[in-house]
Amino acid sequence: MTQPKFEIVIIGAGVAGIASAYYLSQHYHRADIAIIDPLAPMSFTSAQSGENYRDWWPHQTMRDFINHSIDLMEQIACESGDVFTMTRRGYSLATRSCDIDDLLMQLNFERSDDDSIRFHSDSSSYQSPISADWRTAPAGVDVLSGSALIKHVFPSYSQDIQNIFHIRRAGDINSQQLGQYMLAKARASGVKLLQAKVQNIEFGDQFKIIISSQGDKQIVQAEQIINAAGPFIADISQLVGISLPVFNVLQQKIAFEDREKTIPRSMPFSIDIDNAELDWDQDEKELLLADEELSWLAKPIAGNIHCRPDGGDHGSWLKLGWAFNEQPRQAEWQPRLNDQYPEIVLRGAARLNPGLKTYYNGFPRAFHHYGGYYPMTDENWPLIGSTDVSGFYIVGALSGFGSMAACAAGELCAQWVTQSVLPEYAQDLSLGRYENETLMLELKELNRRGIL
Ligand SMILES: Cc1cc2nc3c(=O)[nH]c(=O)nc-3n(C[C@H](O)[C@H](O)[C@H](O)COP(=O)(O)OP(=O)(O)OC[C@H]3O[C@@H](n4cnc5c(N)ncnc54)[C@H](O)[C@@H]3O)c2cc1C
Repeated sequence: MTQPKFEIVIIGAGVAGIASAYYLSQHYHRADIAIIDPLAPMSFTSAQSGENYRDWWPHQTMRDFINHSIDLMEQIACESGDVFTMTRRGYSLATRSCDIDDLLMQLNFERSDDDSIRFHSDSSSYQSPISADWRTAPAGVDVLSGSALIKHVFPSYSQDIQNIFHIRRAGDINSQQLGQYMLAKARASGVKLLQAKVQNIEFGDQFKIIISSQGDKQIVQAEQIINAAGPFIADISQLVGISLPVFNVLQQKIAFEDREKTIPRSMPFSIDIDNAELDWDQDEKELLLADEELSWLAKPIAGNIHCRPDGGDHGSWLKLGWAFNEQPRQAEWQPRLNDQYPEIVLRGAARLNPGLKTYYNGFPRAFHHYGGYYPMTDENWPLIGSTDVSGFYIVGALSGFGSMAACAAGELCAQWVTQSVLPEYAQDLSLGRYENETLMLELKELNRRGIL
């Protein structure tokens, strides 16, 4: 039986694998490529994304990497006629704390002489996010202080909010559309899609990839492999004897129709950064405290609960999320969600937007609870680049930022594969960083890892 042969095989048709195929075929003229996946493209983790992006990161390397990815997304938005509806109303970080200097330090903002951080106590100099147009939105950060100003600009927020850090190069995208656009371009250049699961990999001069589809086994040959298997990236690497320092953490979201119109459609992605004690009545609290498994729900939980309108200015849905889970677990093809999550995230989010309490008695019928894995390294940086096995590359560990990072990750992966000139951040985002003791020590000491 003939064995199909490709220059490059990409394992995984999520956004990372597709973006790699896109940059290889469109920018590096390498299109003898097959993407192998048992599932439909963009249907596993990439279908669970909150679809948000931001240039706010606790370390310059990640800031540079994601800023470049946002540049690339803006390029694609321009050339595609905005096919993936990129918006830019920013990220609004809300707190009840008054100590701005302490907050600036905690949130890894640096006061600078340029106007990248602007302070406001009235609305005269502040550009409010009425328009979602990314072309006209400012960059940098606006710091809004005082409850009167905050009430004026963000009327749905709780009255006790004292400071807002409004990050302006941030917003949302339709990442499904972005992935489908890049896939269509790659396929038009000759990239093939094979619906099959990779079972094993033998390697010598060439890779022999054993794949299965509906019980049939087949061998596909390749000169180079890109492992873009998302939560299964470590399992696939293990097939060629490489151990990756990557673990999976399940994270969830809910989306529902805001039937009662509790949230203004122009509200940016809003994050309550304060630690949260959930809003139970006394009886509920006592019941929870008496239950060993559930007592944590009656105690303070680390903040970062988020809420945003979904579906544009004329839509009616909301998305709520809270990445409070920190327990690593073995990835499964059907992630098992936590039934309590919807109520937990709703009660958490209602602290910043009290109008949401209207849903305490029941969610609207149009409701969706979903989730997937954040495949992560300890430092929450991705792994992109070559490995000890010649011709075997990885692009993954994209945690909760893979939609916004996809373009820069795909481009970087293509640069490694084609041995092109690499950007400055390349070594630090590859397995090579673990040999840089100074960097690893620096990352260990960071107070935040950028997990949302
Ligand atoms: C709840 C949630 C919210 C998120 N919110 C955001 C957000 O707001 N912004 C943001 O930027 N990112 C967000 N993310 C992260 C983002 O969704 C992911 O980082 C991104 O989708 C990862 O893409 P991927 O291609 O690496 O993985 P995946 O999409 O999982 O793709 C991997 C593919 O590999 C395939 N595969 C696995 N094993 C094999 C095998 N043996 N053979 C063949 N194929 C195989 C799988 O079928 C899958 O299709 C969120 C993630 C979650 C879970």
